Amino acid sequence: MNITVLRCPDCGNNLDGLSTDTIFFCTECGKCLLSGDELVPVEIEFSRIDDSGTVLLPFWKVDASVDILRRITRSRSRTTPIASYREFREGNLDHVESFKASGRNLIIFPAFSTSLVLSTGVKLDEVEFSQEPLQHGKYPPIVGGNVGLEDVSKLATGVAVGIEVSKSDYLAFIDLDIEVHSVKVLAIGCTPQESVFIINGTSINIPFSAVKDADDILRRSGYNL
Ligand SMILES: [Zn+2]
Repeated sequence: MNITVLRCPDCGNNLDGLSTDTIFFCTECGKCLLSGDELVPVEIEFSRIDDSGTVLLPFWKVDASVDILRRITRSRSRTTPIASYREFREGNLDHVESFKASGRNLIIFPAFSTSLVLSTGVKLDEVEFSQEPLQHGKYPPIVGGNVGLEDVSKLATGVAVGIEVSKSDYLAFIDLDIEVHSVKVLAIGCTPQESVFIINGTSINIPFSAVKDADDILRRSGYNL
């Protein structure tokens, strides 16, 4: 077995992480780096770090244009079988089709392994994540980030579709394209409580059972399980 010790190219500090991590954070100088053939720096922001018992979890923050190519909604579904048969027929007048809407969005979703990656991204859509400064020399560990840059655009598309589906109208069909303008790592403060990570200041929680490396993340972040 080969063990590679990764060092920060800026300050030479050892980069701590789990064996599957591809996103590394230097606790000495605060650089964030992506592993590959070589370590590539990536911009990192911090948000909702206020709580004292906070664990920082890595997310991707994607600035993208979302182009809705086609969106079809239907009127509220009916209860009788015959009525709903009619409703879903081709060319039904209950269908309302809208074309070509575009918007610039920030799409945020977990950069750690979780079975809830898309639904968590949809929930995060309504939350404000303003950037907060970290005090120099007090960089906390950020571990567990293993969703690589190569998957970011696909996952962002999935989240964008999920956001459309979660709107309060009755969506029948959606076709959209996204164009990614920039990506950053966003370290979000979460508070471990009982069996969930609660995103600070929100009611959004991510069960430990849905996070593949929850135990290791907690341990490396200074929690005694
Ligand atoms: Zn460093």
